[in-house]
Amino acid sequence: QLILGIETSCDETAVALVRNGREIIANVVASQIESHKRFGGVVPEIASRHHVEQVTLVLEEALKQAGTAMEEIDGIAVTEGPGLVGALLIGVNAAKALAFAHDIPLLGVHHIAGHIYANRLVKEMEFPLLSLVVSGGHTELVYMKEHGHFEVIGETRDDAAGEAYDKVARVLNMPYPGGPHIDRLAHDGQPELDLPRAWLEPGSYDFSFSGLKSAVINTVHNAEQRGEKIAPETLAASFQASVIDVLVTKTVQAAKEYKVKQVLLAGGVAANKGLRTALQEEFKKQENVELVIPPLSLCTDNAAMIAAVGSVMYEKGQRSDLTLNGNPGLEITIHND
Ligand code: ATP
Ligand code: MG
Ligand code: FE
Repeated sequence: QLILGIETSCDETAVALVRNGREIIANVVASQIESHKRFGGVVPEIASRHHVEQVTLVLEEALKQAGTAMEEIDGIAVTEGPGLVGALLIGVNAAKALAFAHDIPLLGVHHIAGHIYANRLVKEMEFPLLSLVVSGGHTELVYMKEHGHFEVIGETRDDAAGEAYDKVARVLNMPYPGGPHIDRLAHDGQPELDLPRAWLEPGSYDFSFSGLKSAVINTVHNAEQRGEKIAPETLAASFQASVIDVLVTKTVQAAKEYKVKQVLLAGGVAANKGLRTALQEEFKKQENVELVIPPLSLCTDNAAMIAAVGSVMYEKGQRSDLTLNGNPGLEITIHND
């Protein structure tokens, strides 16, 4: 079974081919970061234009790398949402055109399900499992008792982790996206500043990062007023320590409460070295839980992860029809069909 994946929800135009849900045959990503950098973030109109220009080229490159043709493909999986509406529409329309022209089943995929299934390209899933999703727009703990069953047991009440990284990076005058820069800086500094950790109500698996972000901004401004400057390494290390402390503690608690067999790390912030190391150290102590962490290339947006979800939908007989539309606010749901 060969599934073609298409992802255009944000600023990466990506096409991939995945065999039997787990084996990557081709994985092509055209990033637009350079075009958005000078604006300090993703500009939706520019993103859509790039997707239009890139999608056919990226598709041709993926087919070439795989040495395959459309005739060999069993299903076309495409990110349906969430994301930027104009960006999503390019991928969805490309997928619909291909599905119609070649008479191939169409599969609408949730982007966050994709981030979670990036892990299946590394390790077979064992249920029940828990996924810590940390990306540019999402921070949530998702419990899965089987394929396609996504139960959000906690989520951010304000900023996503990646968003907080990008905003703090901006305060430190670092280019977009700031996450990798803060990560690098943090390794050269000590977490000396006492920054807040939002634990919220006891037992809650929700997150909050806006207070931490404001605390960093205030710390920088207060120091400036005194004519002082805090080393950016110290700020980055202290900010990162606070984020990781909360993420890891809540993930460990939830893994215990839900008695899961696996913990999967997912989303762009999963590329964070500090977070990867902290989780590895924590789960080394827990013999009955397996921690899975995808390689960096599968953490940030790609289409292999979308094809991986499509593969499971295809197996289950789930199909989308040609009325499929980009849905910027698509919710992740529990379905048992
Ligand atoms: P979503 O998946 O929620 O729709 P998105 O697709 O824009 O959002 P991703 O591409 O999954 O987000 O991740 C991008 C985010 O990951 C950015 O906020 C970026 O700063 C962050 N990020 C990437 N690498 C690192 C890193 N090493 N440390 C921290 N953050 C990182
Ligand atoms: Mg992106
Ligand atoms: Fe993403």
